[in-house]
Amino acid sequence: MIPTGFEYERATSVADAVARLRASNGAAKLIAGGHSLVPLMKLRLSEPGRLIDIARIPELCGIRQVGDAIEIGAATVHHDVATSPLIATRCPMLAEAAAEIGDPQVRNRGTLGGSLAHADPSADYPAVILVLNATIHIVGPGGERVVQAATFFKDLLTVDLDPQEVIVSVRFKPVVSAGYAKLHQRASHYAIVGVAGVLDIQGGVVRSACVAVTGASTHAMRLSNVEHALAGQPLNDESIHKAASIAGAGVAVVNADVHASEEYRRAMIPVFTKRALEKARARSSA
Ligand SMILES: Cc1cc2nc3c(=O)[nH]c(=O)nc-3n(C[C@H](O)[C@H](O)[C@H](O)COP(=O)(O)OP(=O)(O)OC[C@H]3O[C@@H](n4cnc5c(N)ncnc54)[C@H](O)[C@@H]3O)c2cc1C
Repeated sequence: MIPTGFEYERATSVADAVARLRASNGAAKLIAGGHSLVPLMKLRLSEPGRLIDIARIPELCGIRQVGDAIEIGAATVHHDVATSPLIATRCPMLAEAAAEIGDPQVRNRGTLGGSLAHADPSADYPAVILVLNATIHIVGPGGERVVQAATFFKDLLTVDLDPQEVIVSVRFKPVVSAGYAKLHQRASHYAIVGVAGVLDIQGGVVRSACVAVTGASTHAMRLSNVEHALAGQPLNDESIHKAASIAGAGVAVVNADVHASEEYRRAMIPVFTKRALEKARARSSA
């Protein structure tokens, strides 16, 4: 289908983007990679009167080390996350998740900020961002604010972000002992079920675990029952199997669609939780 008519402008800075959003009085929407927004516009599920392009704003692009944290600009495309030597060495789970998004066209246009703002229930990044305890840095008419990943994802396609705000970057402490495993839709590669897991291990014992699922429900969420089951346990096949086996029980509402029934998704949550945790364990001993 053809979208309804719209104007197009390119913002030159974050402040310029915020000013343009404000001036539009709700008529404008940001566009970064366009790989979620344009399909919605073609279906006329979204009909912005104006698009403000933020894809080429230099301050929104790039991956850098800031103290002991890593900062990724919101307009950084998935390909750059997947191929960053810094991410590959310091946070391989994130590189792994980025490399599995869509296809080369999607990875070369789609952005981290666009994925988080859109919050598709089957998107990969939200689960990873949750287990990294990342912070999302946002600028709006009132200045800058920082939102914890834990409170950012609210509901289906709903996040803690006002229409006049711009996600500027995401920050997190990198971790190596972490893994992402997903069952993907064959055509689009979106997650039918995707699980991210981070293990903090000392002397072969799990001090703490962070586990989150995407694709299963309205939005990505932590699997706190799995985290509690692992905490304080020796890390071995048995503890991983036991913790993973209760993963689906922690999710109240499970999606059902043309790709997978609720029953199938429920059955896959423990399977992919186990795989994510096994990847995390393998990386912890590498
Ligand atoms: C064929 C296909 C396959 C895909 N497969 C996958 C997959 O396997 N896994 C996956 O996770 N995703 C997948 N995607 C989605 C893809 O990753 C998108 O690129 C991403 O979800 C949105 O990023 P974008 O930069 O394209 O955002 P856009 O489409 O430009 O924008 C999406 C929304 O976010 C807002 N927005 C964008 N940037 C910002 C910002 N910095 N601050 C505030 N708001 C902002 C826009 O206003 C809009 O509402 C797929 C998409 C397609 C078309």
